[in-house]
Formats: sequence, structure tokens, C-alpha cells
Amino acid sequence: MVYYQFQDTEQQVRIGKIICLARTYKEHAREMNAVVTEDPLLFLKPTSSVIFNHGTIIIPKQSKCLHHEVELGVILGKKGKNIQEEHAMSHVLGYLVALDITARDIQSTSKKNGWPWAIAKGFDTFAPLSDAVKKEKVPDPLNLILSLKINGVVKQYANTNQMIYSLERIISFISQVMTLEPGDLILTGTPEGVGEIQEGDLLEARLGDLCTLTVDVKKE
Ligand code: MG
Repeated sequence: MVYYQFQDTEQQVRIGKIICLARTYKEHAREMNAVVTEDPLLFLKPTSSVIFNHGTIIIPKQSKCLHHEVELGVILGKKGKNIQEEHAMSHVLGYLVALDITARDIQSTSKKNGWPWAIAKGFDTFAPLSDAVKKEKVPDPLNLILSLKINGVVKQYANTNQMIYSLERIISFISQVMTLEPGDLILTGTPEGVGEIQEGDLLEARLGDLCTLTVDVKKE
């Protein structure tokens, strides 16, 4: 079992299912030659892929090309099914910054063949998570700078206000499919600037001045 590391509370919250969105920023969809869809596109990551601040991303032997995707993570604090948009934010417990590490070569093969993304997205260490902050400290989660530096060089830098969907819409939409439970985590998709990571890189992700996440990279 894995638990969130909250900055501001001793509260133990177990990490539940990790629901990820794809193509939620227009410029990222464009760089991937992908189309933005009317409804969010969802996939899942296993909790076994979670690592924390100062952890190490392991490049698995099956992939020759890992990509970084820096994302806003939304932690659920309350159970809900068919949540209406006007009640959605009451289900949020807090936020964090995450990396949705992707084996891009495996994902490209999957896309070509119409296969699921579970392998490309699901290796161990493919979900680095920062410490979490309670929502009370975040007056407007969709007006925060999301950034990623590699070896001190800025690779991704965007405001979460560029996201196509509101958090209310995302939470409501997912809950029409699967019951959201306390501890579930939504990774809301990445802005433009994704690219390759290599053994020896040092990655520093930030969500405004609220959360930071530093991880390095090694080969299996
Ligand atoms: Mg992603």
C-alpha cells in the first residue's frame, strides 16, 4: 500500500486508482499530431508505478525512449458516483505535481495497432508524485504555473488555465464511468514541450510555489 505525503497534515491517505487524461492542452495535442476530443480521453496507471520526491525513474529494458509529461494531480477526498459539476469541487482533498512517464516507442506501436496504453504508461516508477497540499491552500488550481526543468533547463512551462476542460467537468465525467473514492488521483494531462529523458538526467517539476518534485533517471 502506498500513501500520499501531505506537507501540512499527518493524515494518512492511501493512494487509490490513478486516472489519467490525455490531450487536455491544445498545444500538446498539436505536438503529438493528435485531435482534441469533446469528452476527455482516459487511461489508468497502477499504484505500483508510484515513486516520490528524490526517487529514481528506471528506464525499463523494453523501451528505448521515455518521455516526461508534467501534470497537475487532483486527489479525491470523498466517494462519489455521477457527481454533478456543481458538487465536484467538494470531492477534492488536495493537489500535487506529478510526472506521467511514458514509454513513447511502446505507445506509438500501441497507437498504430489500436492497442491499449497500459504497458507504455504502467511500468514501475512511471508515476513520480510530489508531496501533496490540501485544497484550502490552493484558491485557484486552474491558474498555476506547471513547469519542468531537466538538468536546470526549462522543458515544459504552462499555466493550468490553458487546460481544455474544467476540473468540475473532469470529475463529473469520470464519475459517470467509475465511482471515485477517497485517495483516488486524477492526472489531468500535460501541456506542450514533452520530450525524452536519459539516464543521469535530473528532473525538477513544480506546481506554482506549492509543490516541487525532484527525481533522477537510471537504466534498469
Ligand atoms: Mg499524460
